[in-house]
Amino acid sequence: TQNKKVVTRFAPSPTGFLHIGGARTALFNWLFAKHHGGEFLLRIEDTDRKRSTDEAVAAIYDGMSWLGLDHDGEVVHQYARRDRHVEVAEQLLAEGKAYYCYCSQEELQEMRDKARAEGRPLKYDGRWRDRPASDAPEGVAPVVRFKAPQEGEQVIDDHVQGKVTVANEQLDDMILLRADGSPTYMLSVVVDDHDMGVTHVIRGDDHLTNAFRQAQLIKAIGWDLPEYAHIPLIHGSDGAKLSKRHGALGVDAYRDMGYLTSALKNYLLRLGWAHGDDEIISEEQAIEWFSLEGIGKSPARFDFAKLENL
Ligand code: GLU
Repeated sequence: TQNKKVVTRFAPSPTGFLHIGGARTALFNWLFAKHHGGEFLLRIEDTDRKRSTDEAVAAIYDGMSWLGLDHDGEVVHQYARRDRHVEVAEQLLAEGKAYYCYCSQEELQEMRDKARAEGRPLKYDGRWRDRPASDAPEGVAPVVRFKAPQEGEQVIDDHVQGKVTVANEQLDDMILLRADGSPTYMLSVVVDDHDMGVTHVIRGDDHLTNAFRQAQLIKAIGWDLPEYAHIPLIHGSDGAKLSKRHGALGVDAYRDMGYLTSALKNYLLRLGWAHGDDEIISEEQAIEWFSLEGIGKSPARFDFAKLENL
């Protein structure tokens, strides 16, 4: 059913070392693209100016090149594309699909307190949706919010998670541009994936909830939805969230310990993806056999002791 050329991307935020989870996401995207004779793109999501560092960008390049995960085309730097993100928000404003919201911090706090008192999650109530511009208080810089559809539902037919549905009612009017005019993560991702021609979004399942909001936005703009595959996060051998105490270090640490690229790659591949009982899979076989449907639904377990240096 897929006649468009497959395009995947790895979109790390450069805020630390390239960890095992990120490297596995990159590997799966790379394999999927190779399997389909498509393209694997790299986007550095450096919009968080305080937390993004040049060292982290270097660690990403370094780790990927050590693992042989070569990307196609130029690296895309998200922050450099902010004018384009703003342009799309302005287009939504012009079409009445987004609006200026002048809510003060006090008003938002009130909403938050009320939600808490009633034991429900905070939902922005859309109070500036239909107010005329003449109501705008003087000297207040507004945010731009998306007019999120409230009727119906979002269905994501995820290649790993299956069909996942959320009622639109649960999704509030998210911010697209902050009061200082800067685009939010949610807007930037949607615009970049579209402009880069990404056909398959393969990423950690911590992004599944974002996918529903992103899907709403994509449809409102009038673009096609990409295919989604949300991969279960990696846990430690004790079942807890993966951390350094499980031996899960930056990819560079394994190189420094003398591990072979092929050993780490084979191990990463088999973290959440299986091909029968095969323990050692060559790169050619991995490319030939890789499929999203082969990714397990439950969290993969990282066990440092099983990382043999073959
Ligand atoms: N930059 C995000 C992260 O590092 C990934 C965003 C995405 O894959 O859509 O978690």
